[in-house]
Amino acid sequence: MTQSTKIPFVDLVAQHLELESELVSVFKSALESAAFIGGPAVEGFEQEFAEYCQSRFCAGVSSGTDALRFALMAAGIQPGDIVITVPLTFIATTEAITQAGARAEFVDVNPQTYAMDPKKLRVLLERECVRDSKSGQLIHRKYQRPVTAVVPVHLYGHPADMDAILELAGRFNLAVIEDACQAHGAEYFSKKENRWRRAGSMGIAAAFSFYPGKNLGACGEGGAVTTDDEDLLRKVKMLRDHGQTKRYYHDLEGYNGRLDAIQAGILRVKLSHLDEWNRRRREAARRYHELLASMRDVITLPMEAESAKSIYHLYVILAPERDRLMERLAKAGVGTGIHYPIPVHLQAPYRALGYKEGDFPVAEEVASHALSLPMHAHLMADHQRVVAESLLALMPLNAPSV
Ligand SMILES: *Cc1c(COP(=O)(O)O)cnc(C)c1O
Repeated sequence: MTQSTKIPFVDLVAQHLELESELVSVFKSALESAAFIGGPAVEGFEQEFAEYCQSRFCAGVSSGTDALRFALMAAGIQPGDIVITVPLTFIATTEAITQAGARAEFVDVNPQTYAMDPKKLRVLLERECVRDSKSGQLIHRKYQRPVTAVVPVHLYGHPADMDAILELAGRFNLAVIEDACQAHGAEYFSKKENRWRRAGSMGIAAAFSFYPGKNLGACGEGGAVTTDDEDLLRKVKMLRDHGQTKRYYHDLEGYNGRLDAIQAGILRVKLSHLDEWNRRRREAARRYHELLASMRDVITLPMEAESAKSIYHLYVILAPERDRLMERLAKAGVGTGIHYPIPVHLQAPYRALGYKEGDFPVAEEVASHALSLPMHAHLMADHQRVVAESLLALMPLNAPSV
């Protein structure tokens, strides 16, 4: 490896060079029409993205966080409700739950896929909740509050086990909102329906983020809610636009949470390349798998469930002495990331929820060993080889495996 080799963790510039003239013309036509908010670009994108996600409808919003919050509110989550999610996620998942007025409750993740473990969900629903005999509502015994929704996260681009989650949600009458912010185009094979289903088409609604680093990223902020439910769509569209259906006639108090027209135009250009970009990420993941196969005793490679087609938003290994390894890789010119160093239940803002270390051992184990290797659609095979060689050179090969 040469000293000068620099391999960034993510490269957003490559896709912009590839699409420069198309992206610039989006900006030019926005300047010429001065249609910056709403209009045909936003509606066009919503239609195309709904279709892409095999969903009936889509509403563009200003971020993935707003998408989650609006989806929860539009699904009828009330202040004081309990909403179940996972502790291994970006904090936006729980921010949205809290900001919708609910309380986040966690179940641990599956040790292979790092997504919500339906077995743990079942235990929580069966043992810690009771059905109120009068209302039929599911009540959490300890908090004496209704449990009304579950938010599985398709973490790192790998879909959660949706058959099992949807089955439990149906049995206990819970709304399922998918956090698909890392999973644009990911697929899940539903045994129940005997077909592949796209992320964003399985829950009553799903939230997507178009933060620049996501597989489909805007040149700024953006997000979307997908749903098959027309009433839910209508509510999201009101929430994103100050609660109005007609200008200055407000049915409820909403938010300023719209997707702007320039971002929508940019997203339309990029959406037509997304399948190809996702295919290249899957190819890059396969290559890492081969290159790192000899180190399987020391590091844990990401696993794809049989029922899943991950889009590898991130390629996350578990490694011993992760922090030191990260530092040394940086010195060798290899950029890496940690997703996420502290699980949400141990983050400062949630201290009041009363969780402690040891409550979710799988999420905690992943948080302390996870290392995200360089991964993006324009990652070159040569660079992957350098990453693998650096890892091989730096890993204490006699270290205990994790
Ligand atoms: C990025 C992300 C979000 C939030 O999206 P923003 O557009 O940054 O608000 C929510 N959940 C997960 C899992 C994410 O990765």
